[in-house]
Amino acid sequence: MLTVMDETKSSVYDVAVIGGGAVGCAVLRELSRYDLKLLLLEREADLAEGISKGNSGVIHAGFNVSAGSLKAKTNAAGLGMIYGLAAELGVPHRKTGKLVVALANADRSRLEELKADGDKNGVQDLEIVDEAAIRRLEPLARGHWALYSPHTGIISPYEFTIALAECAGQNGARVLLEAPVEAVDFRGGLFHLSTPKGTFAARRVVNSAGLFSDEVARLAGIDEYRVFPYRGEYLITDKDCGLRLGLPVYPVPPRDDPGLGIHITPTLEGNIILGPSAEPVDDKRDVSSTRKAMARLKAEAARLMPELSRVSFIRSYAGIRPKLVDASDKDRFGDFIVEESALRPGWINLVGIESPGLTAAPAIAVMVAGMIGAKTDLRPKPEFKPERLRRTRFAALGDGERVGLVARDADWGEMVCRCEHVARAEVVAALRNPFGAKTMDAVKRRTRCGMGRCQGGFCTPRIVEILQDEGMPVDRITKRGGGSRLFYGWLKG
Ligand SMILES: Cc1cc2nc3c(=O)[nH]c(=O)nc-3n(C[C@H](O)[C@H](O)[C@H](O)COP(=O)(O)OP(=O)(O)OC[C@H]3O[C@@H](n4cnc5c(N)ncnc54)[C@H](O)[C@@H]3O)c2cc1C
Repeated sequence: MLTVMDETKSSVYDVAVIGGGAVGCAVLRELSRYDLKLLLLEREADLAEGISKGNSGVIHAGFNVSAGSLKAKTNAAGLGMIYGLAAELGVPHRKTGKLVVALANADRSRLEELKADGDKNGVQDLEIVDEAAIRRLEPLARGHWALYSPHTGIISPYEFTIALAECAGQNGARVLLEAPVEAVDFRGGLFHLSTPKGTFAARRVVNSAGLFSDEVARLAGIDEYRVFPYRGEYLITDKDCGLRLGLPVYPVPPRDDPGLGIHITPTLEGNIILGPSAEPVDDKRDVSSTRKAMARLKAEAARLMPELSRVSFIRSYAGIRPKLVDASDKDRFGDFIVEESALRPGWINLVGIESPGLTAAPAIAVMVAGMIGAKTDLRPKPEFKPERLRRTRFAALGDGERVGLVARDADWGEMVCRCEHVARAEVVAALRNPFGAKTMDAVKRRTRCGMGRCQGGFCTPRIVEILQDEGMPVDRITKRGGGSRLFYGWLKG
């Protein structure tokens, strides 16, 4: 086995990516097309534990971003890539279209402004529609006028992130979890990245640490950025809440809101998401849910869709926006930063990648590969495989296929999650993932166990048993790594 010292001496990576969110994983996958030795270092016990798990999961068309900005360019380019990429990787997604509704006649001019921005950004087929068309497109939506964007869609953001990394892994990239970069040293023409799992040397570094990219840059002596955290809280309904929403419905963006306003978004499984709120917070890790925001979400959503006032919610969650401007900035627009440091050539910073960063991730990745390719010869690997190994989902199969699977392996016949119809075989496969993520949340994000109405009441003890069967001592089982242990001791000896 390699020791930490051996690792430093024997392995020099061509590129090390810091951060396993959608952007870092998209960069890793894009670079894995080429003959490069690649490493991704992620602080948490799984991928997609940062901004990439707490968002709306909307594939944006690109009319809400300032014309000519990098946000606009990467949004448009990302939109052109993401549907094909998601299909290639087998990530659940759907082109739904989207409505931005004006509840008052006076707001029609705001829709025209949005359409004009979209036209400038090259967004195709935007259309202002009237009340009858709104009802036709989405019977639950209200409004006098709406901007209809047919190319908007929805995607599972964490499945997308994990799939990108798995594809990169199959193409030779190495991914290390629970490996926070704590110090950076530049010597001998190499960056030396220190983590609790060892020190890794790399010729080039891509800092894709999301909310913490300013702090990671500082470790390399680059003190140019400041990220301001803005929390966005959400509420989510049961998928059997009695309402079927076909597409995301947004309000005309309020002028005082640093986001897009509280919107209503369907998930691929049929839940409805309300949110996000937008509020500056002091702590980048403060993903708490507050009573005040919950009340506001419900009130705003009921204004857009009165039927929502009679549904109940199964969970709240929050995501944090990495803003580059603070609350005093009237314009509230900070563009994405994708640049190589002049102070530390070879070190590329990706900072302030807020919305529409999920949509833009594939385009940012191509940009980063271009920046690296401008300095070094990138040789495409003929053996590059753009897909990844597909997972079988019991819930998505017909009866005939289910019977066949159960006949071959009894683990397909044991239901671990009754709400989402997840079989034991899927949980086992999730635990045997290529990067060794073995937390309850890792299972949840790979299988949907615990995402249903009972929120883990039924499946948690079953997953705990399977984890033990897979060799994990009960006192090492955690929700999401670190100190989030599920068990602290025995009540009886
Ligand atoms: C409320 C909200 C709603 C949004 N809605 C949408 C939407 O609908 N559509 C859209 O396109 N975009 C949306 N976005 C934006 C999108 O979610 C982000 O742009 C995207 O997820 C950012 O990905 P990332 O990889 O840059 O960051 P992250 O996902 O945060 O990844 C960064 C990773 O770096 C790791 N890290 C940090 N420090 C270190 C270290 N020292 N060493 C190693 N690893 C480290 C973190 O643990 C984390 O996993 C939304 C964002 C928010 C907050």
